[in-house]
This record gives sequence, C-alpha cells and structure tokens, in this order.
Amino acid sequence: MQRKRFDIKTDARFLLRKNEHLQKFIEPYSFEKRTSYIDYNDIPVIKYKIYDDYENLITGFSTRLCGVSKAHLASLNLSFSRGDDPENVMENHKRFANAVGYDYTKLVFSDQVHDTNIHIVKSEEDAGKGIVKASDIKQIDGLVTNLPNIPIMTFYADCVPLYFYDRVNKVIGLAHSGWKGTVKNIASKMIDTMKETYGSNPKDIICAIGPSICKNCYEVDDVVIDKIKEKYTEAEYFEIVEEKTNGKYQLDLHNACRINLMNSGILPENIALPDMCTCCNANILYSHRASKGMRGNLAAVMMLKE
Ligand SMILES: [Zn+2]
Repeated sequence: MQRKRFDIKTDARFLLRKNEHLQKFIEPYSFEKRTSYIDYNDIPVIKYKIYDDYENLITGFSTRLCGVSKAHLASLNLSFSRGDDPENVMENHKRFANAVGYDYTKLVFSDQVHDTNIHIVKSEEDAGKGIVKASDIKQIDGLVTNLPNIPIMTFYADCVPLYFYDRVNKVIGLAHSGWKGTVKNIASKMIDTMKETYGSNPKDIICAIGPSICKNCYEVDDVVIDKIKEKYTEAEYFEIVEEKTNGKYQLDLHNACRINLMNSGILPENIALPDMCTCCNANILYSHRASKGMRGNLAAVMMLKE
C-alpha cells in the first residue's frame, strides 16, 4: 500500500522555498512540531503521532473531503442523523473505512446526547450496530472495548473527541466531550470504566484530544461559565477561561479536557493536545459554529487489531 503523508499545510515546504520570510509563520505547522497530521490513502485521514508506534492499534479522524454528500453536507458526512441520503452516508463510510483500514460493516456507533453514559462493547453482537443493523446502544457518549476487529465510532462538528488507549491491557475508548460532557467530566468516567472493567492503570493510558473548536473561536456566555466555575479550581479556571469586556468569555475546551485527564491520573506526556481547530478549518472539517448548524458530521474511529 502506497501511503503519502501530508502536513496540514500540505505545501509548506514548497511555500518555504518560494518565500523564505514565511518560515516563522509556517514553522509551528512543521511535521515535527505537530501532534496530528493528515495521512493520505485515497482520501485524507487525520492521524495522531502519539499512536504511530502501536502496530495493533488503528485510529483516525475524518475530514469533510472526498465524499459524495452534497450542498452543506459536502462531502464526507458520516452521520445518518443529519438529513443526508443514507446511500451517500454509506458510500462515505466505505471510503473512510477503506482509507483507515477496518470493516465498516462491523462499526459500533455511539448515540450522543451530551451526557456521560458509557457503553462497553463486550460481544461480537454489537458489531454493526448503528450502521448495518438497528442499535440498542442509546444515549451513549462514550464507547470502550478490548475486543479486536470491532471498530468503535463517535461523531463531531466542534465538540472534543477524546481517544483512550491502554497499551498494557489493550483496551480502547472514545468519548464525545462538548462543554457539557467536559463539565460533567466524561473523561474521568471513561478512565474509571477502564479501571473497573479491565484493570487499567491511568499511567498506561495514552490519550489524544482530536480536532475540535479552539479557544479563539469559542465565545461563550455566563450559562456555560457558571458551570465551569463550579467544576474547576480558580487556578484551572484562569487556565481555560479568558474574560472579555463585552460580558462574554473565550473558553479553551482543549485545556479543560487536558485538565480532566490529568486529574484522573493520565501522565502529561501521554496526552496529545489538538493542533487543528474545526472552526478555523471549516473548509476541510465540519464546524457547527462556523456553519451555524448547517453541517454534516466528522467521525473518530478506533480499533484493535488481533
Ligand atoms: Zn479556531
């Protein structure tokens, strides 16, 4: 299989040759300094460098590029709940699965409601639930499994994707953490679930925080901030909130999730912070905020290989 690896600024090196004065601007995007990158195998797939060395692990995050969906759903919408033609969604799934390397008919979907319920995939019976067969997995924002060859999938368009991999016990997990899931701390519930079910030790869990809305793009009001104040210490609060003169705030969900993970015992060096914002990059990613809700869904996927 021929694979090409692209930086997010795909032609950064070409630009550099032409415009040496751009170096300062482009340097933060250089491959060495990034936590995620775009892998290109028929269609683009976002990958995390922190997982590159684990050969039994498959991970990915979709872009909106190279699919068949139309208009505001263009083009790689992976969700059946956005009003898309199901045939288009299925074709998009085939393309994404082929690029990442898993069997799409075995996917297990979440059913996200901005809460903290977690489903543990314990049997082959769950394979295909949500995509090729009806699902009884309802109101679930987190999925965990240690079963090989069953890909798990969660959906996004600005909210924060959390990836978990216990490298010792070989357990994977995905969680959807928008501001509500972050305040309710689905991250800690995922880690507790992994501890209780599989005996995971947080120091063995490698986490990636996927593409999602950045602090600069995420203005919020008192409704959100009052909840943040209840849940975080004063020092943490000032790390994740910037108070503005217009009575609004900029909220850093990425760091809020990082703090949640670290408070549950995840080592700082085992957390990859995102360096792609869905809203800043709405041309290649779906952003709820940038599109005012007229958008498809991106997806995070994880699978253990046998
Ligand atoms: Zn942004």
